Amino acid sequence: MKIGVISETLQGERRVALVPAAAAKLATSGFEVVVEAGAGEQASFADNAYREAGVAVEVDRRALLGTADVVLSVQPPHLEDVAWLRVGAATISFLQPATQGAVVEALAARGITTFSLELLPRISRAQSMDALSSQASLGGYKAVLMAANRLGKFFPMLTTAAGSIPPARVLVLGAGVAGLQAIATARRLGAVVEAYDVRSAVKEEVKSLGASFLELELETQEGEGGYAREQSAEFLTKQRELLTQRVAVADVVIATAAIPGRRAPLLVTAPMVQGMRRGSVIVDLAAESGGNCEVTQSGRVVEVGGVWVDGTTNVPSTMALHASQLYARNVTNLLQHLASEGELKLDFEDEITRSCCVTHAGQVVNERARQLMRAAAAP
Ligand code: NAD
Repeated sequence: MKIGVISETLQGERRVALVPAAAAKLATSGFEVVVEAGAGEQASFADNAYREAGVAVEVDRRALLGTADVVLSVQPPHLEDVAWLRVGAATISFLQPATQGAVVEALAARGITTFSLELLPRISRAQSMDALSSQASLGGYKAVLMAANRLGKFFPMLTTAAGSIPPARVLVLGAGVAGLQAIATARRLGAVVEAYDVRSAVKEEVKSLGASFLELELETQEGEGGYAREQSAEFLTKQRELLTQRVAVADVVIATAAIPGRRAPLLVTAPMVQGMRRGSVIVDLAAESGGNCEVTQSGRVVEVGGVWVDGTTNVPSTMALHASQLYARNVTNLLQHLASEGELKLDFEDEITRSCCVTHAGQVVNERARQLMRAAAAP
């Protein structure tokens, strides 16, 4: 079975789907691996590193697309690339069906079998393949460094000959994978950290990282499968009151709250931003899905009344080396699960295969992907 790794074409995407070490592992498991020339360059993996790992480097992208049995990438295949894929081949990527409806339809029409990493089930058996988690973790870590870099203050408490410095106060909104990593990072830098999440189940994890957990004394707001759900009006009013107070005293807000397949919840309003001290920093990791902060501009850093609001998108890509290494492990584990005997054998009784396979045998076979595509197409 021939595995093809293509260069990413999306502007600002520095990651590569397979790093040399993972490619070598696949090669020793009997797979033939071919990497497009320059694919690992932006993640600090030169073509020679792949060659040394026993992997072929192909200059001709179309030849690679046309001969690979499985094409790996981080971003979804480009519409123009779909036409070059071999009929019956497979692809694995973050397919993003909600925004890539045309690509999904084209992949189905061409008879490609497509796997979408963000649709993997959040079950323990799939943890080693969970690229959403590995990348969110990088994002949470880097968001704190971005905030620390912009903040004109120390994070730790210091006692110096020139006087004492109090620790920075960091508020983390959303204590999922990214949020927990942000809490751990801010704590390591010495900040005093508070965290808020609608799922009270995360309270103990937050506390074990040395942060305090902000709680609303209302009914529990947990949805299905360990994810959040949308909240009641009463809840939202109380939430706003609580956050108005806590945002006002924060030096840094790291916003990571998300609801799968929906616009990110709006947690930090424009008046809350006005209530922050000048020089404070908000890093909104939810920028791409609408933002947790009302004044966030996706892909930009803006200054609003002296407060910096960072809406940088694709933060994991800024740590391309480790992001690629972890992504490569996730994708390799999924590949080995799907092709345990050296060729793709799809068992739709298996929850992992069923959940993340989006197109197969000329059809969009995934109900969740269809829902996301319909929701995105609705006016
Ligand atoms: P996510 O990115 O969808 O959301 C991030 C966080 O935002 C979540 O904790 C969510 O509760 C929170 N949130 C949503 N709306 C909010 C609001 N209005 N106010 C405050 N917070 C809000 O989630 P994620 O980080 O990808 O994962 C969520 C959870 O799924 C994890 O914490 C974990 O429990 C579970 N998980 C399980 C596995 C596994 O078992 N394989 C893997 C990964 C995650």
